[in-house]
Amino acid sequence: MVIVIKPRGENIELELLRSLRVHKKLEEEDENNYVSLEKGWAGEKQFDQLLLGLTNECLILNDLLLKVNNTLFQIDSLLITQKKIFIFEVKNYEGDYYIKDGRLHIINGKEIKNPLIQISRSESLFRQLLQELKFNVPVVSHVIFISPEFYLYEAPVNGPYVFHAQLGRFLKKLDAGAASRVSDGQIELAHKLASLHITKNPYSRLPDYTYEELEKGIVCKCGCSFMEVENKNDLICPSCGELENKESAVLRAIREFNLLFPDRKITTKGTMEWCGVISKKRVRKILLTNFDLVKKAKASYYVPKNEKEKN
Ligand SMILES: [Zn+2]
Repeated sequence: MVIVIKPRGENIELELLRSLRVHKKLEEEDENNYVSLEKGWAGEKQFDQLLLGLTNECLILNDLLLKVNNTLFQIDSLLITQKKIFIFEVKNYEGDYYIKDGRLHIINGKEIKNPLIQISRSESLFRQLLQELKFNVPVVSHVIFISPEFYLYEAPVNGPYVFHAQLGRFLKKLDAGAASRVSDGQIELAHKLASLHITKNPYSRLPDYTYEELEKGIVCKCGCSFMEVENKNDLICPSCGELENKESAVLRAIREFNLLFPDRKITTKGTMEWCGVISKKRVRKILLTNFDLVKKAKASYYVPKNEKEKN
């Protein structure tokens, strides 16, 4: 049985980037960063699902950011079994690649960062951390190429790589090698590691933006475009056809607004402007239902329910 000690959680950085690029045209570099984040995230989620199929007892910690000797390192997936700890780096690359002198190239010649270097670094730092925590367990790491559309020419036979076609057998073998139970010490270690996780700053890699320059509107859940009014109660995304209740759409837009502009207050006027397509009456009703009103002579504003006392 698989016990998820630390779930992957949500990816605020990706979520914000997904909507920012509808509110404004991103520079090519930021757009590329977005596309690779989206792809990487999808690959990691896919791998999470595969790990859940393991039958022997093991502990999973996803998306860990840890620190040892003042050095940060990140682990996509960490799996603790009774005998070993596995570190996985998940790559959702597509296309034809080759390896030459330990360097990874796309077939047209461009070199990209070899994930082997990244995972060796994480593994070594993780060992140091284990030593610090006084745990002595063997650690192995693997790079998972999750996409069936990835092909690596001249892949080393003994490399730490696991390709799509091998995944089923790889996990079966891993499962067979794990014992039916993990120890109390391992459970303790898992919780300790989860407590050491550093929360990433979602703004760290976002492009610059100002309120004024952003085109206003409610971005569709999938991040394809702004939603339009379909009927009295619903909005529709003209790109993907997603239908959404106005209230749920406005609440999503407010959450996004809050994340993008943590210093700005939620007001009726501001929400109307941010959402664009919703009437004043409707905005006010949604705010009154879902938030607490803080009355001020000049500009009243709304706060999440039960937070009024703190303000
Ligand atoms: Zn859509």
